[in-house]
Amino acid sequence: MIKSAKLSAAPALDNKTDAPALIHLRPHHLMCIQNYRGHGYSEAFQQRMETILDVLRQRPGSGLPPIPQIRIAEGADDLCAACPHCLEGKCESDKPAVFDGLVSERMSLETGCMLNMEDLQNTEMTLQLLEECCPGCSWLGLCREIIMDKQKK
Ligand code: SF4
Ligand code: SF4
Repeated sequence: MIKSAKLSAAPALDNKTDAPALIHLRPHHLMCIQNYRGHGYSEAFQQRMETILDVLRQRPGSGLPPIPQIRIAEGADDLCAACPHCLEGKCESDKPAVFDGLVSERMSLETGCMLNMEDLQNTEMTLQLLEECCPGCSWLGLCREIIMDKQKK
């Protein structure tokens, strides 16, 4: 499971790339970003997802030390900001808050925890975890298929 990291200050920008170096994500989006395969609520949402993934993937395998790049947020986050279902800074659905609680419990996360992509890559994304954390998500069928595909490789 993902470690519960300590709060630490992080730079607003990555000096080498000018890309945002700190991404705010609500807990269940740690799972969504790992299962992303080009589908999303809108083109703007997909572009935001791809930008976030580009930033998070800069360091693993680069030989540079991993730095915390994700800060766990409560409520709408940097991904929600590009979602058509985010209305006045709040998700129009009640389900994501439930997913957040379930993921936080299983991954020992608290608001303000700092993580990096390697922490996520070390977390085994299983069908059981998906079923436990995402009850009733409209993308559940697709995410099941993605996890089953990964397990075949
Ligand atoms: S089932 Fe829904 S909440 Fe769970 S990882 Fe997939 S898209 Fe995210
Ligand atoms: S559906 Fe809700 S929780 Fe999911 S990205 Fe959109 S606003 Fe955020």
